[in-house]
Amino acid sequence: MYCKKCGKEISDNAKICPECGVMVSVPQRQPENKPVSAGEWFVTILLTWIPLIGFIMMFVWAFGGGVNPSKKN
Ligand SMILES: [Zn+2]
Repeated sequence: MYCKKCGKEISDNAKICPECGVMVSVPQRQPENKPVSAGEWFVTILLTWIPLIGFIMMFVWAFGGGVNPSKKN
C-alpha cells in the first residue's frame, strides 16, 4: 500500500510510514449497529417476557380453579 500523506510505498502491515512518520493504519472501528445473534435475541425476548408471564400468572392464579384461596387473594 501507499502512504496517504506522502504517497511513498510502504509495507501493508506497517503502522507508521517510515518516510513521514504518519499513522498509516486506521484503527478498526466496530460497526455502530452490529447484528444481534439469534441466541442474544432469544435471551432478550425471554427477559422481556418475564414481567408479562408474571402478569398472566396473576390472572391464572386469581381466576383459575384448584388454586389455594390464599394464593388467589
Ligand atoms: Zn508517508
